[in-house]
Amino acid sequence: MLVANDQAAWQRERMVADQIESRGIRNPDLLRVMRSIPRHLFVPPNVRSKAYEDCPIPIGYGATISQPYIVALMTELLAPAKQDRVLEIGTGSGYQAAILGQLAAEVYTVEISPELARSAAKTLRELGYTNITVRQGDGYQGWPERAPFDRIVLTAAPPELPEALIAQLSRGGRLVAPLGPVRSQELMVIEKQADGTIEGRPVCGVSFVPMKPQGLRP
Ligand code: SAH
Repeated sequence: MLVANDQAAWQRERMVADQIESRGIRNPDLLRVMRSIPRHLFVPPNVRSKAYEDCPIPIGYGATISQPYIVALMTELLAPAKQDRVLEIGTGSGYQAAILGQLAAEVYTVEISPELARSAAKTLRELGYTNITVRQGDGYQGWPERAPFDRIVLTAAPPELPEALIAQLSRGGRLVAPLGPVRSQELMVIEKQADGTIEGRPVCGVSFVPMKPQGLRP
């Protein structure tokens, strides 16, 4: 039930109904989680009034919190299960990680910007999300100490699929990522079969911040 004076809860209700359900996202757990997570607390105060709008929002340090529908679409495609261990590349604000944390067992998220890694970890801690671990580092390397992962999601676009990430995906696991150069990225769903072979399919064209090249210092 909505609390009458809870403006943000009302805005979330509208966001889910008008931007997400209306575009065909049906997973009830995902819709419930997106109704509950305070997206406005993940963005800087100066853009907070836009938090529930149907658009991406720049959050500083070259990062952008994706449009709510794109977050929903990627999460639905990823389809994490309750017992899954998930790796996210590109923590940004921590919003996508918070959603994943409510749907899966454990979330590990890597962010190249030290400032963003620090502020996302603080936001997640303050909001009480305890199954999410943030690390500052280069996403091209993944998180080998915590591999394998049942699910991997990239929220910055590499020109091609990083080999380390494929290696850290479980057999039977799934990876969702924007792939390709700026202005011609495709959202891809990639699956590692039981025999270790990789299959991928494009879903739609998207526009994400490029993944900073390997070895580049933050
Ligand atoms: N998932 C985020 C959105 C992130 S935007 C959210 O929910 O808010 C993409 C992020 O990827 C940015 O924060 C950017 O700093 C980060 N990034 C870019 N290149 C990276 C790399 N090589 N390794 C890890 N993170 C990277």
